[in-house]
Formats: sequence, C-alpha cells, structure tokens
Amino acid sequence: MAGYWQQIQQQGQQLLKRTFDRHLRLAVTGLSRSGKTAFITSLVNQLLEGSHSQQLPFFEVTQDDRLLGVRRVQQPHPEVASFRYDLALQSLSGDLPEWPEPTKGLSEIRLALRFLPATGLSSWLAEPVTLLLDIVDYPGEWLLDLPMLEQSFLSWSEQQWALLNQAPRVELASDWLSRVAALDFTEVADDQLVRELAEQYTTLIQRFRVELGLHFLQPGRFLLPGEMKGAPILNFFPIPVASQDKKTNDSLLAELTRRYESYCEQVVKRFYKEHFAQVDRQIVLADCLQPLNAGPGSFNDLQLALEQIAESFSYGKSNFLTRLFSPKIDRLLFVATKADHVTPDQHGHLVSLLTELVQGIKRHVRFDGITVESMALASIRATQAGFCDYQGKQVPAIEGHQLTDRSLLTLFPGDVPNSPPKADYWQKKPFQFVEFFPPAKQLNQPLPHIRMDQALDFLLGDKLQ
Ligand code: GDP
Repeated sequence: MAGYWQQIQQQGQQLLKRTFDRHLRLAVTGLSRSGKTAFITSLVNQLLEGSHSQQLPFFEVTQDDRLLGVRRVQQPHPEVASFRYDLALQSLSGDLPEWPEPTKGLSEIRLALRFLPATGLSSWLAEPVTLLLDIVDYPGEWLLDLPMLEQSFLSWSEQQWALLNQAPRVELASDWLSRVAALDFTEVADDQLVRELAEQYTTLIQRFRVELGLHFLQPGRFLLPGEMKGAPILNFFPIPVASQDKKTNDSLLAELTRRYESYCEQVVKRFYKEHFAQVDRQIVLADCLQPLNAGPGSFNDLQLALEQIAESFSYGKSNFLTRLFSPKIDRLLFVATKADHVTPDQHGHLVSLLTELVQGIKRHVRFDGITVESMALASIRATQAGFCDYQGKQVPAIEGHQLTDRSLLTLFPGDVPNSPPKADYWQKKPFQFVEFFPPAKQLNQPLPHIRMDQALDFLLGDKLQ
C-alpha cells in the first residue's frame, strides 16, 4: 500500500512539474547567410506539417504518436518583429521557388505544442499538456560586439585600427584610413563629417564581408542595423590612438567616445539584458562550406568569429555576462548547415570540422553545466543524393538545380576536411561547391530536410516527455 501511495505521489509531482514547465524560449543565431531563416522556416514547418508523416523518425514524440497538434499563437512581445513564416513559405511555393529573405534583425514566433506525456503515468493522469515554444531569430553579428563592453573607445580603436591597417583589409581601407588619420580630434566635432565617415566605415566593413568573405567585423549593428538603420547612435568609427591627449568636452574625440559608450550601453548591453537573458536554449548555425570555397582568409576569420560568438555562452564566474544578469541557457546546439551541398559520406567530416572549430569553447561551456551538441543538417534539402559513373566507377554524387541558371547538375563537390585545413589543402583546393535552388514546396507535404528531426529531439525532446 505504501508503495502505491508513493507512486501516486511521484506521479502527482511529475504532473505538477509538467503543468508549470510548459514554456521554452529557443534562440537561433549565426552569421549572415548561415541559414537562420531557412532553419526556422523548416523547424516551424516540420512541427506544423511533419508531425504525422514519416518525416521525423528521430523525433521521439512523433514516433510515439504523442504529439496531438501544433498551432501558431500570438507572440509574447508585440514590440518585436514577427518572424515572417508565411512569407518564407510563399517564396518556397509555386513553380519557381526562391529562398526566403534572410534575417536582418530580431524577430520571434510562438507555437503551442499539445502532446501526451510519455508513459509512466496512470491513464487518468495522462492529460494532454501544452508546451509554448518561442523561437527567436537574431543575427550572430550582434554577439561579436560582446568584447566591446569591456573595452574603452580608445582600446577598441587601437585594436580595430591595427586590423584595418593589415592585409586583407588595408587594400580596401587605405583611402578611408588616410581621411581619418588627417583629422584633428581635439577640434570641435563636425556632425556632418562624423556621419559621412561613419557611413563610409559601414560601407567598408560591408565590403569586407562581401568581397573578402570576412566575418569578424565590429560593430555588429553596422552590418545589420535592424530597426536602428540611420540612427545617430551608429555614427562613430575607430580612430588612430596616438597623440589623442587633449580632450575637451566638445572635441571630436569626446563626441566619438560618447557615441561609442552609448552604443555599448543602449544597444549591446540592452540586447543582452532584454533578449539574451530570456533564452533557455540556443542554436548557433555555421556555414562551413562557403569559407572552404572562399579560401584560408575567410576560413580563419570564420573560426575567430565562431569563437567570439561562443564566448557569449561561456559564463564562468568571471564572465562579464554573469555579472550583468543570470544567463539560463541549458542546451547549446552547434549546427553545420547546408549539408545537402555535399554527398552523405562527407557529413561526418562536416560535423568533425565544426566540432574542431568550436572545440576550445565547447569544453569550457560544458564545464559550466550546459549540454552541448554539434550536428550537420540541411534545413531545406535542395539536392538528391545518389551515385554517378566516373571513369567507369560508381562515385557518390548530388543532383540539383543550380542557382545560376536553374539547370540540372550532377556533381561530386569534393572532400570536406575533418579539421581546419592546413596550407597544402588550400594549394590543391579540392573542394568546390555549387549553390542550388530550393525545391518547390508541395501542398500539405512538409519541407524535405536532413536531420531536422535529430535537432528537434535534442532541443525539445526532454520538454515533451
Ligand atoms: P540567414 O542570413 O542566416 O537568415 O540565411 P538564410 O536562411 O537566408 O540562408 C542563406 C542562403 O543559404 C539561402 O538563400 C540559401 O541559398 C542557402 N541555404 C540555407 N539553408 C539551406 C539548406 O538547408 N540547403 C541549401 N542547399 N541551401 C541553404
């Protein structure tokens, strides 16, 4: 009898826990073009349309047939932009599907997942439970600003000025550098000139990204300003530090220092406090394939940027964020996206490559009590994998419609290195991938994917028990 009551008590406690544990805030980030929009579109679509198909074999709740229904509900923050799921789906539908518009700022979407708890409860207690799932999208570039919070304007300037004067940046930057170097920073600030130079600096770092394939660029809001486009708070730039000894209150130096400090306080810190602090689980997406195409400069820069992004999740006692608020992220998923760009035999290499890229940080955050996982996936699979005949032998291949002219192409893009490549790899350049059109979305058919079910299970599985 005692055992029976104990069991009832346990079941009651479990039920209580479930009743109150019904909310999860999932944040998705990654640098520009890492695949955030495609990932969120697919994640929402798999939950809305894929839960009763055979599309999600590794998502336990659907395999157990316990997911009763999923629907969109009103988002929790009316002041935040909505993630445009309908628009994304519209782009992917029709005869000539297009990739949806990429992430430009912060947005969110809320889903309600109604499910039956897993076994272990008597049937009278096994009432359906609802999990409210908030999915938040924000640019990874914003996390690159974290170190600025601990730098003064002059120490930040010193670091950036040195970078701007080095290859590969210096070639594009030299004119701008000479203009800024010629200024007298002790003179009264000319607002028009400051705006002009700040705009030129913004264009410069945008060119670093597009033309040089660089990722480690600050300030992040200059690249993706979101709702702050054109705001005076974004009008500052790094300066040469030597000989900045005379600083009056209305000098150019004083004005730039004020703007830098306002940016740190009102943009960077505010984002961490208002949004980052609320996140329960985080996904960091990385496109490791584009830098393999672009070359060693771009690849090394991706590594630097990923380390920098991951720094936001490594909250030891001394970490700045821990002093600012109490972060509560308990799971962190690193994802190598666009796995459909390579043949399936290369997926293992892609995961190893990403794991190595974030390894130092991974050890650190695991130590701090966060469960960390890496995987390779395709949010929206645009190719078919198979074999083709090459010099009389069957070799793995992928097939899809190329982004340039929609023509059908079958190819083996090459071997993905399983760790950051050495010099001889870049000399041989054995890897060349091609971009593809997305597949046309079929009515009532979930989007094709690779391993979205495994990502869903890692991110939500325990909350759907
Ligand atoms: P964001 O800037 O992080 O929001 O990136 P997007 O989600 O807009 O993705 C950028 C581009 O990457 C898209 O336009 C596609 O060309 C490509 N892409 C993203 N996800 C996938 C995928 O799963 N498979 C393939 N083949 N391409 C993808």
